[in-house]
Amino acid sequence: MIKKFGILCLILSSFLFLIACSTNNKSYSLKKESSNSISKTTKGYSKTVQSGLSNDKSLNNTTNNSTTTFNNNGIDTSDNIPVLMYHSIRLKKDNPLMVSPKKLDEQMKYLKDNGYYTLSLDELYDYFSKGKAIPKKCVVLTFDDGYVDNYTNLYPILKKYRFKGTIFVITGTIDNEKPFLTSSQLKELDSTCLDIQSHTVAHENLPKLSYRNQVKTLKNSKNFLEKKLNKKVRYLAYPYGKFNKSTIKAAEEAGYLMAFTTTGKWSNKSNNLFRLNRVYINGFFDLNTFIERVTNPDYSDRNNIFKVFWGQFTNFII
Ligand SMILES: [Zn+2]
Repeated sequence: MIKKFGILCLILSSFLFLIACSTNNKSYSLKKESSNSISKTTKGYSKTVQSGLSNDKSLNNTTNNSTTTFNNNGIDTSDNIPVLMYHSIRLKKDNPLMVSPKKLDEQMKYLKDNGYYTLSLDELYDYFSKGKAIPKKCVVLTFDDGYVDNYTNLYPILKKYRFKGTIFVITGTIDNEKPFLTSSQLKELDSTCLDIQSHTVAHENLPKLSYRNQVKTLKNSKNFLEKKLNKKVRYLAYPYGKFNKSTIKAAEEAGYLMAFTTTGKWSNKSNNLFRLNRVYINGFFDLNTFIERVTNPDYSDRNNIFKVFWGQFTNFII
């Protein structure tokens, strides 16, 4: 009897513990969303020509030489830019990390038909660091890992819509591994509409490396691309989106100016230029989900459940 009572207590306390955890998570995500949606800056530069997806029904509120833009939901979109994160562009129905060319085409058509401008990372950096003016409707397109389908499938679609984007490549795969881009493809892409930047040498989990080894992979990948492409490489995407304080320091020491994670919502310079958010675009999304992600900085994260589960099995490619 005492034994049964003990087991019952154990089950009850586990249940209460799970409820407590769930409540904590909820309050954390609400706080995080709230701080994203109300963040405002009061810098002197004009915000009337920056992103924010203010449409015809938007409200513009000008105070003390500073204009704050709100979208339909009353969310402050000032300074926020959707930096979209893709990986492979090919059809594979059971893998959300692969967006089919047909879906990508539909998404790019939506952006073109709705007057979006694709910012390069140089333009994003100038906007975040110097307040340089940018068009009202902006989006940044990024593609991680450097799959060969970025040449065969993505490149023709971007050319069709006259858009530009960035590919973060794993330099150790170049000319070495089959599903990845070759040097000659990199050169052609980089000279046209796809800027090539670093995703480390071997897709290392950076926080697990010593500081010295973090600097090494970050410098080596940067140097490799600078030699191949005859240009400065200044931007980085952390493999798996993982970083810690020493990773940020290593990225700065290696000479990068901005670095991107794999999580978060729209990007804002208040994120810190070395922990910039990106918006995940999943191969399972329909067009409406895509539209929500590029028009609403406080979009619902319900579809990220795919990433959470899928990430458990595919950690090696994110
Ligand atoms: Zn990756």
